Amino acid sequence: MIYLDYNATTPLCEPAREAMLPYLERHFGNPSSVHAAGREARAAIDNARDKLASLLKVKPNEIVFTSGATESCNLAVLGLARCRMERGGHVISNKAEHHAVLNALEHLEKHEGFDVTWLDVAKNGMVDVDQLAASIRPETRLVSIMSANNETGVIQPMREIAQICRARGVLLHSDMVQVFGKMDVDVSMVDAASFAAHKFYGPKGVGFLFLRSGLSIEPIMFGGSHENERRPGTENVAGIAGMAAAAEWVEPERGKEQERQKQLRDDLWNRIAKTFPEAQQNGDVTRCLSNTLNLSFVGFDSETLLMALDLEGVCASSGSACMVGSVVASHVLLAMGLPIERARSAVRFSLGKWTTADEIEAAGAAVKRIIQRLRSRESQYAVA
Ligand code: PLP
Repeated sequence: MIYLDYNATTPLCEPAREAMLPYLERHFGNPSSVHAAGREARAAIDNARDKLASLLKVKPNEIVFTSGATESCNLAVLGLARCRMERGGHVISNKAEHHAVLNALEHLEKHEGFDVTWLDVAKNGMVDVDQLAASIRPETRLVSIMSANNETGVIQPMREIAQICRARGVLLHSDMVQVFGKMDVDVSMVDAASFAAHKFYGPKGVGFLFLRSGLSIEPIMFGGSHENERRPGTENVAGIAGMAAAAEWVEPERGKEQERQKQLRDDLWNRIAKTFPEAQQNGDVTRCLSNTLNLSFVGFDSETLLMALDLEGVCASSGSACMVGSVVASHVLLAMGLPIERARSAVRFSLGKWTTADEIEAAGAAVKRIIQRLRSRESQYAVA
């Protein structure tokens, strides 16, 4: 199997597995218990919090453990928008966000009287910072813009966005799920940022929210006083230990690894472009995660291509894995104003730590066979 879907999820790295095992086997205590077994589990959480805080250069109490990025994004968007507000208020985001942000904001819009400004994205996937600045109003409470898009890899100008928000006194959340372990992450410019362990070689079902200290947030779940009353529920001790170990493992090699993946990604593009010169890259190729290649094969539909790739042993995606099973065209590509036939023919290849040059060569050859097969089928039908 050739796995080219690292933006959907990554395999668990060995240090994460090793860090988790003691808490799956021997140290099963509840971290809220005051006895020795509980203290062991609490120590693992404290240790993981310290490691993540030191990697991100933030204070340990600015890390809130969650069940993953969906929960982190929901907590940030709902919790900050609702804070200290009567009903209503104004929030700004963009049309190409992940559904973890999109649907949370739509809920505020439909059911809680909030007004949401949905910024456009340009054809290259970029948010227009002038449109953002012009959209801020006295009652604007929150801006939420993702740092890099999971489907196209397009990187947003977060520093400029942050400067505008800061100058206007508006809180800024960023979905940083796709950048951790791939780029230098600077959370000092935002007020809140969401992360998921399984995107950086940690376990699934665990993540965290960076929340600037001193900021109050309305919890979105109700229960115990865990995580400084910001997120109730017994913590996923093994997951949290694994996440911190993965973060420590992925960070030091990041620069070298991204250069390697960029070369492989460009090699794949060159191979595909030779086979199918009509292929088009989606999103700004100069401001893109170095592991991501989103291509449209106009004339063929994504589902057919992905099934054919799967039969050839290549795992890729048409965009967000959360939309699997649905044949809707990518909302991200449509938000960029791409024609429907381009959105419906898109395939995302995303590379990672274990992608090799041999795999890229084999994936390129698989695409060539598939295109030749689909073309010869088309010409048979044309003759018939
Ligand atoms: N945000 C982005 C950019 C993502 O890529 C994902 C996952 O695909 C999420 C949020 C949601 O992550 P999870 O499914 O781990 O909650």
